[in-house]
Amino acid sequence: MKNIYLDNNATTRVAPEVVEAMMPFFTDYWGNPSSMHRFGGQLKKHLEHARSQVAALIGADPSEILFTSCGTESDNTAIRGAVEAAGAGARLITSRVEHPAVLETCRYLKRHGIPLVELEVNGRGQLDLDALRKALAAGPALVSLMWANNETGVIFPIREIAEIVKAAGSVMHTDAVQSVGKVPIDVKADSVDLLSLSGHKLHAPKGIGALYIRKGTKIHPLLLGGHQESGRRGGTENVPYIVALGKACELASANMREETTRVAALRNRLEEGLLKACPDVKINGDPDHRLPNTVNFSFLYIEGESILYRMSDCGIAASSGSACTSGSLEPSHVIRAMGIPFMAAHGTIRFSLSRYNTKEDVDTVLEQLPPIIADLRRISPFAPP
Ligand code: PLP
Repeated sequence: MKNIYLDNNATTRVAPEVVEAMMPFFTDYWGNPSSMHRFGGQLKKHLEHARSQVAALIGADPSEILFTSCGTESDNTAIRGAVEAAGAGARLITSRVEHPAVLETCRYLKRHGIPLVELEVNGRGQLDLDALRKALAAGPALVSLMWANNETGVIFPIREIAEIVKAAGSVMHTDAVQSVGKVPIDVKADSVDLLSLSGHKLHAPKGIGALYIRKGTKIHPLLLGGHQESGRRGGTENVPYIVALGKACELASANMREETTRVAALRNRLEEGLLKACPDVKINGDPDHRLPNTVNFSFLYIEGESILYRMSDCGIAASSGSACTSGSLEPSHVIRAMGIPFMAAHGTIRFSLSRYNTKEDVDTVLEQLPPIIADLRRISPFAPP
């Protein structure tokens, strides 16, 4: 049985070119970049090369890139660091559909006295920009809104949002963990001040991320310690993984246009095929503003988890929009925030593709999944006779 991996928003396969680029930094160049001797000193240029590769992918200056351990750390650094730097009077604005790395950080700060507005989304997962304007009218704030949603792939209009935020004299952070490498990003033209990214979503290993900090943006470090990363993050640099992230960004820059066109065509083939083969299927999220690799389906009358298990038996990996908490299968906060009705909310499945997927992968899903759906509906107490 061939394994078909369609869960690339959870994590991606490390690209062979990335593995090749990072290996010498375990075996030959294993020094500490802060050391005065040549074991360490020779690593500096590799760190700076990686920094420029990351910067190039998002249109930043290399000096504006801070290496972190993951997307979660980038989000925490951006939000907690900017709130601390703002001092008294700091305020936060975010949305209901952010990743927990943002939402839980904002809610933690709220518990410590920072006023927080959580913007609602509509049934397509989109924001009401007038609600953002209204929230900003109360005074400057740190606004943290994601570039694209990890569950639905819905893309927020970040350039328009950032213009509103900047006109209000506020600071704009975006969690672009799902977007970097999948859609073109130009931090200068898009006017964002802070942008989070994560290596393992773009074919680098888990445990490496970066935060773009626009020159002049006031931000306190999250990790106190040594003077690494120009005093912006204590901790010895993870050189092999930083090199890996740099290489992954270079690959993404080189191939983005062809890759996203090919991946979007595969995603569309999957989407159209399933809509044709299965009755009572809906697509969640704004279909006109979505990541090219993501589709989130609701299969009415059945549980997402049952579908996942049955697909897994056939070697197909995807993910569902529910989390099994305290024995009850609750739809995710994203699906709930979109107001998706009960029957659709419980049967959500996300497929997320990557450069390594093929037409054969999609065709296998189109062959295997419709009978699974029909079979599960046959035994479902909710399905109409
Ligand atoms: N933000 C978004 C939108 C994500 O999808 C994820 C991971 O799924 C994260 C943040 C956290 O990234 P990491 O796993 O690198 O901490």
